[in-house]
Amino acid sequence: MPQMFHDPIHWMALIGAGDRRALAQAITLVESTRPDHRDRADALLAALPSDPGRATRIGISGAPGVGKSTFIEALGLHLIAQGYKVAVLAVDPSSTRTGGSILGDKTRMEHLVRAPDAFIRPTPSGGTLGGVARRTREAIALVEAAGFDRVLVETVGVGQSEVAVADLVDLFMLLAGPAAGDELQGIKRGIMELADLIVVTKADGELAGPARHAAADLMAALHLARPKYPAWSTRVIITSAITGMGLDDVSGAFTAFRLALEASGDFIRLRAAQNLAALRSEIQYGLMDQFLNQPGRQAQLHDLERAVAEGRMTPRLAARAALHN
Ligand code: GDP
Repeated sequence: MPQMFHDPIHWMALIGAGDRRALAQAITLVESTRPDHRDRADALLAALPSDPGRATRIGISGAPGVGKSTFIEALGLHLIAQGYKVAVLAVDPSSTRTGGSILGDKTRMEHLVRAPDAFIRPTPSGGTLGGVARRTREAIALVEAAGFDRVLVETVGVGQSEVAVADLVDLFMLLAGPAAGDELQGIKRGIMELADLIVVTKADGELAGPARHAAADLMAALHLARPKYPAWSTRVIITSAITGMGLDDVSGAFTAFRLALEASGDFIRLRAAQNLAALRSEIQYGLMDQFLNQPGRQAQLHDLERAVAEGRMTPRLAARAALHN
């Protein structure tokens, strides 16, 4: 880390003034698992200004190939044209296995990458889902301190990561392809219930008709789902990243969603729930770190794991032995 970033107050001031290098390096710092970096990250995060609450946090999920990166680029550019500042972060717990990130791919979002009012952060490399969620939460706080007011959090993993991201964001958006009607069985019920907004992609050319059908099927399926909020019914919006159709409706839905929840009092509750989830996971990870970093712990765990693997000890007894000394 360069010398200029040693003083957390000064560093945070640079982030607040829009210094992108200061922001990028701060995210690198919070992503680091080195204990000395962790201490510096804590000092930096302690210098965060109190959250003015201007930013809206949006989770984006959808199966690979649904058109997620193309859509995010088109939507991002649209939001910027409307005067927003757009940050794109990704949650990808699977990147340890694949050895790289999809967002790291240079051809992805090439126009958005170059826009001065956009900040795109490649996926932090791997780790547990909880660890990735924590780093993402801190990255959200940092981009908000830098003045980004539309924070798009993309889930690249499948399954569990949607649930983790839903805890971090205000609005959860699910992308579905024009064949979504046929694939409805495949869209997990639980994930549909997480969605505040469903976006049907690729509604152009020959896919326009199928996209309309998919939207109708999705709307019918939504009637069976339990509403998340009395003040907001999940919307289905038909879009094309190529023609730009529907992008304005998506942007408008972000604003309408927030206004509706603010008026009903749900927005304050939602942010409080996000903070409580953060508190719980911080305690969980703090305890885990403390535990794993105690002297002799690794050797002890190694022995206990062997004993369990070889059937000499039950998992329960081994866990007790570890926890009690
Ligand atoms: P991701 O894997 O979900 O990120 O999907 P991509 O954004 O890489 O898109 C997958 C494929 O769908 C690519 O071949 C895109 O060119 C195509 N695609 C994405 N958006 C649209 C769209 O709005 N219209 C059409 N016709 N094709 C699209």
